[in-house]
Amino acid sequence: MTIPQRVPRRIAVVGGGIAGLAAAQRLVECASGDHLRLFEAGPRLGGVIETVHEQGFQVEASSDNFITTLPYGLELCRRLGLADQLVQTDPRYRQTYVVHRGRLHKLPEGFLMMAPTRLWPLALTPLLSPWGKFRAAMEYFLPPRRDEADESMAAFATRRLGRETFDRLVEPLVGAIYAGDVDRLSVKASLSRFRDMEREHGSLIRAMRRQMAARRRSHRKETQSGARYSLFVTLRGGLGTLVDAIAASLPAGCARLDAPVERIDRVEGGAWRVHAGGTEETFDALILAAPSHVAGQLLAPIDAELGQLLGRIDHTGTAIVSLGFDRSQIAHPMAGAGAVVGRIERSPILAVSFSSQKYPHRAPEGKTLLRIFAGGANAPEVAQMEDDRLAAVILAELRPLLGISGEPVYRRTARWPRIMPQYYVGHQELVGRIEDRVAGLPGLALAGNAYHGVGIPDCIHGGQRAAQRVLDESR
Ligand SMILES: Cc1cc2nc3c(=O)[nH]c(=O)nc-3n(C[C@H](O)[C@H](O)[C@H](O)COP(=O)(O)OP(=O)(O)OC[C@H]3O[C@@H](n4cnc5c(N)ncnc54)[C@H](O)[C@@H]3O)c2cc1C
Repeated sequence: MTIPQRVPRRIAVVGGGIAGLAAAQRLVECASGDHLRLFEAGPRLGGVIETVHEQGFQVEASSDNFITTLPYGLELCRRLGLADQLVQTDPRYRQTYVVHRGRLHKLPEGFLMMAPTRLWPLALTPLLSPWGKFRAAMEYFLPPRRDEADESMAAFATRRLGRETFDRLVEPLVGAIYAGDVDRLSVKASLSRFRDMEREHGSLIRAMRRQMAARRRSHRKETQSGARYSLFVTLRGGLGTLVDAIAASLPAGCARLDAPVERIDRVEGGAWRVHAGGTEETFDALILAAPSHVAGQLLAPIDAELGQLLGRIDHTGTAIVSLGFDRSQIAHPMAGAGAVVGRIERSPILAVSFSSQKYPHRAPEGKTLLRIFAGGANAPEVAQMEDDRLAAVILAELRPLLGISGEPVYRRTARWPRIMPQYYVGHQELVGRIEDRVAGLPGLALAGNAYHGVGIPDCIHGGQRAAQRVLDESR
């Protein structure tokens, strides 16, 4: 029997963020005979992921860890030989604080994003009034909504837990993660597991309590076998190590830096001609892993409706200011991973991560590294302030919260304009329509944080799926 041979193909990946890199890595792993080209607009690979080492601090410019409940980040690290460099969060500092009326309070223990797993900590928290607590506890008895219609995170959380719990606990947590307007963000696109809990168990509290009991049982088994990671992990050398490891696994010369793709044509026979930096090359298949608004502009001349649909995915921007201090300059014990700030506080800060508490290797002995997230959908003007003013505004906010004296010994600002895709109500339907249009263009796949999740593991998975789609088409 003769085995059918695959004809080697020319494949282009546009965008060298983690999604594009994961796609390229999968292509090399599965189809080493193919000719691969990766176009990246900027001078380095990694997109928003970048680790900087300065004055003994290890500073992440954007993402600083990834979740382990999805397997894709961990698996990729293992395949690249990075498993022994994975670092877990310090178990002493997994608590989150919430800023309320200008003071830090611990988030009630067991409160996970949209639902409590334990009722006592909720009953005792100073973050809620007696009425707010009563209303949240009523969630247990409220009838579930069982239809499939999407709704905003605000509508969902308020409906289940009441306005006060939404304003003081849910919105600060969710707003910090998505840097978005929770009145518009879709619960089905980003936090569908909570809608599923409501549907399947009738109540979030009931679902959480059952899940926690099941988790405790499996945790006991895993602890016995020594298999468990903390909820979030990072890499000892920073997440830039992951970017470097993928880059090293690609064929020499396949990545073109400073090569923004300016135009794409569909040529006879269904091939793709890519114009970048004054050159043009033709490919059999194309993976677009640039931000969706860029993909939309590039595809509009080929399919106007697809371009228009992609352009409907809105993006917000944030700034991250990393500040280093002598530990003695901060009076607060900072016994946690960081603090989130709800929009009702009207603060320029979305969240502050106690970066070197979570991961002690990030600051030299005796020093502390804080990372402050500013801007987002509710205060876009903050992310645009020039560096000195931004730092001054942030410090004025942080000093009374953390008891900071003196000036930071280290400062670095990273800006991410128009980078965080916003999954508004109806997002899944919009992505479904985009994917239907893409299905009509053989040899094309999309990847990136705009479609099926913004976290690093989601983006890795999206890149790998795009690679698989292109490979499957060639069989
Ligand atoms: C501040 C911040 C903090 C975050 N924190 C976390 C976290 O802790 N954990 C987590 O899991 N996730 C986090 N995220 C989310 C996650 O990091 C991102 O969603 C993910 O890295 C995006 O990857 P991507 O490849 O889709 O896009 P990007 O990283 O944006 O990459 C897209 C690439 O396309 C390139 N490009 C654009 N136009 C063109 C063109 N015309 N031609 C060629 N190339 C082009 C860009 O230069 C860029 O390199 C964070 C995000 C931000 C912004």
